Amino acid sequence: MQTVQEGQCGLCNHFGENHAKSQVLVSILSSKSADAAVLDECGHPKLMSLHLKVTPISGCDGFVPAAQA
Ligand code: SF4
Repeated sequence: MQTVQEGQCGLCNHFGENHAKSQVLVSILSSKSADAAVLDECGHPKLMSLHLKVTPISGCDGFVPAAQA
């Protein structure tokens, strides 16, 4: 497991935002840790058309804190 910090995709509202919140995403938010193999699509409006896939420890300046489930 990897620690996910504020500013990283795993805690960003755009991480996997275009599908229903999976148990995996909810657990990353609550535990602030993620399996290294997790990959999901970034839903940031500027990146969505590119179908960018990111890991929970990736990040960019478009970070928006996810609301806790
Ligand atoms: S790439 Fe940026 S906008 Fe997309 S999920 Fe990661 S931090 Fe959020």
